[in-house]
Amino acid sequence: MEKIVNIGATELMELENKYGAHNYHPLPVVLAKGEGVFVWDVAGKRYYDFLSAYSAVNQGHCHPRITEALKQQSETLTLTSRAFYNDKLGPYEKYIAEYFGYDKVLPMNSGVEAVETALKLCRKWAYEKKGVPENRAKIIFASGNFHGRTMAVISASVDPDSRNGFGPFMPGYVITPYNNLDTLEEAFKQDHVAGFIVEPIQGEAGVVVPDDGYLKAAYDLCKKHNALFIADEVQTGIARTGKLLATCGNCSCANGCENNPEVKPDILILGKALSGGVFPVSAVLADDEIMLCIKPGEHGSTFGGNPLACAVAMAALEVVKDEKLAENAEKLGIVFRARMQNLVDSTNIVKLVRGKGLLNAIVINDSEDSKTAWNMCLKMRDNGLLAKPTHGNKIRFAPPLVMTEEQMHECCDIIEKSIKEFEK
Ligand code: PLP
Repeated sequence: MEKIVNIGATELMELENKYGAHNYHPLPVVLAKGEGVFVWDVAGKRYYDFLSAYSAVNQGHCHPRITEALKQQSETLTLTSRAFYNDKLGPYEKYIAEYFGYDKVLPMNSGVEAVETALKLCRKWAYEKKGVPENRAKIIFASGNFHGRTMAVISASVDPDSRNGFGPFMPGYVITPYNNLDTLEEAFKQDHVAGFIVEPIQGEAGVVVPDDGYLKAAYDLCKKHNALFIADEVQTGIARTGKLLATCGNCSCANGCENNPEVKPDILILGKALSGGVFPVSAVLADDEIMLCIKPGEHGSTFGGNPLACAVAMAALEVVKDEKLAENAEKLGIVFRARMQNLVDSTNIVKLVRGKGLLNAIVINDSEDSKTAWNMCLKMRDNGLLAKPTHGNKIRFAPPLVMTEEQMHECCDIIEKSIKEFEK
């Protein structure tokens, strides 16, 4: 077999194209190194990363504390499966449960696995605690959702690219418009509603931020109808939106809200930044009343809760607290949106900017199927900043949370300069 060494960007892209499935359409740039807010391509050119692997790299690329935890644990014990106890799982479970204020955690790997786990847990709770007749439980979803790519999850999608050609779909779902309390209230009038699953901000849909009070009112509806409020914080969680959790952002309590949140999800789903982007670590958190509905043998994963994941996730969560990343995201988010608002006000090419903390998007003044946003991302790439369009005419901006204010201004200069070239 021919060994491939020292080849250039074009050849590397050709290799992916020839030997990899065509399920992605990447921006043409081939990355070889990352550190903090920066990534470098194979030719050594440096870029600001404004995607952070879809918010997985909140702590910055190759954070030394996280990679050190990975190194140490990888030389000691990596995987035991859950057939046996291991010396990292218990301490990690205590740490993460206390960190987010829940009785228990169920560790998984990818974000979508954690979503599936939450859906199973919700159904199980409905049969065991709520008294829903067998196989009749319904879960309410918000349209425009993105919870991942498995069959159970795409069954709740309204995005044709996610769904078409993959049926038949999972029954037992009700899909209502996002950010609409009237239709949500209607949905709750159906029999056997077990829960409502929602993204506090819809990331993949283009960073759609619901009205103030929506999450709290939805939570109250869940309580009124004895249903579980399930927050998918895979993308919004772990400091991204300027609070430790986006579901805490809707209450009035000070200091990060985690002490006395007005909206405390019955089931909280986390992934992505739980490992700082080092490898897939996800988690489902809930209190005993719910979590203990799942018994031995009823759910699991060979890799879930492995010692390597536990060590990495603990380091990743410590970094978030020690480096005050939520506070930094809150502060820099204000800077970013103010700069982008200038662009909205002073040009005719950007329609609006929206977001919270460092999860933001701009909407380009062009049709959804236009190539403008893509071409703008190519221009930003040429100018040293990487971002990606989402849903045609929107560009998501989600840099690592370890950025300085000075760097943020430099990045806004690059974005401004690149976008202004498209002025009509
Ligand atoms: N949930 C949300 C809100 C997401 O944004 C994503 C991924 O983008 C997922 C779930 C799925 O996570 P993963 O790709 O790790 O399976």
